[in-house]
Amino acid sequence: MAQSKYTTHLGMVDILPDEVRKWQALENLIRIEAEKFNFEEIRTPIMEQTELIVRGLGQLTDIVSKEIFAFSRGEDNYVLRPELTAPVVRSYVENHLDQRGGSQKLFYIGPMFRAERPQKGRQRQFHQFGVEVLGSDDAVADVEVISFMIHIYQKLGITNTTLKLNSVGDPESREKYKAVLKSHLKPNFDKLSEISQKRFEKNPLRILDSKEEEDRPFIETAPLITEYLNEESRTHYSKVKEYLTDLGIQFEEDPYLVRGMDYYTKTAFELISPDLGAQDALAGGGRYDLLVEEIGGQPTPAVGFAAGMERLIIACEELGIPLGTEKSVDVYIVTLGDAARKWGVSKLPELRMAGLSATMDYMGRSMKAQMKDANRENASFTIIVGDNELNEEKFTLRNMKASEESSLPFDEILANLEYLYVD
Ligand code: AMP
Repeated sequence: MAQSKYTTHLGMVDILPDEVRKWQALENLIRIEAEKFNFEEIRTPIMEQTELIVRGLGQLTDIVSKEIFAFSRGEDNYVLRPELTAPVVRSYVENHLDQRGGSQKLFYIGPMFRAERPQKGRQRQFHQFGVEVLGSDDAVADVEVISFMIHIYQKLGITNTTLKLNSVGDPESREKYKAVLKSHLKPNFDKLSEISQKRFEKNPLRILDSKEEEDRPFIETAPLITEYLNEESRTHYSKVKEYLTDLGIQFEEDPYLVRGMDYYTKTAFELISPDLGAQDALAGGGRYDLLVEEIGGQPTPAVGFAAGMERLIIACEELGIPLGTEKSVDVYIVTLGDAARKWGVSKLPELRMAGLSATMDYMGRSMKAQMKDANRENASFTIIVGDNELNEEKFTLRNMKASEESSLPFDEILANLEYLYVD
């Protein structure tokens, strides 16, 4: 087989037609279900200003500069979006979406980019769907966001999942906890992993979700954040748990579940699947009451989640859940001779305008080869045309599944096929 001179970049994959049908099924499902939750779709550019993504971290730190694809052109810095929370918030502030009134319930689907080391379930270009609800501090918003996330997996039949839940408190609770955590870790600072030592001053909470073996003993004995929540944060957390319980959504409290940045507040959650192997996180999210203000807007509470679509597809495959339908076409016009071919070309638009999918041979193949091609294309019907048919103005309509044929004028063929275009 001939080899392409070029390949995709590491960790970036082509989604080929047979796969695309699965993606479309998934995207349709997400759009239909989002509408039931009254979420509206938002689409933002693939590239953002680098500063939006690295804000708060000051300079391009090691972590950020290693994981993002960024470049500059003239005065401007561009970054391929690694996630959509910050871009959606940017759009919310820039376009004054708060002025539409009420809370903004937004969802998105699209590609994200992270320069990570690729492995199963981890790519450099991957896709997420997610929601962001802006303008509500009510625990109902947290629960609606979590419900939507779970709803999508349940609709597909992925039920063997674990919802992990925690609260990282409001800034007051967190500052108090950070101090306690640091004084717990400080005596053993030298024994912590290099990465945790780096996080000690800037982001001590992240030490709690360290995967490094040497950090284990100190994490396991650390005081729990939930014990340091002030009244407001504790009440919010209790309400979230109460509503989830009312809805019959099971969860596991995980006091080590934290989210990286300081703008995260209160609820944090993650959805895990045992069917995914090492990369077992299907989705994650939480509340971020401080982000809108950080990006320049009025203080606005917000909550959201992001889910990996590749991992969702992997989970479906592992569980044998079929996605999408097989390739098919309603009508394939099989022609013999130039006049028939010309007739076919002229009838394709009529079939399509009537709502049918229709095609014919583009390769000058024999009738036999065209019939074979119609089968390969999974055609429901063929219309067979030669000189005789043209003279008599009656054409052979063949039902491919039933192997039945009738000879009819074109109008009657259209009328016969009418039931196919009731979609
Ligand atoms: P995050 O934005 O890091 O909270 O990720 C949310 C979800 O996106 C994760 O739970 C994964 O399902 C998915 N995800 C994150 N990074 C990748 C990646 N590099 N490749 C594929 N999926 C990813």
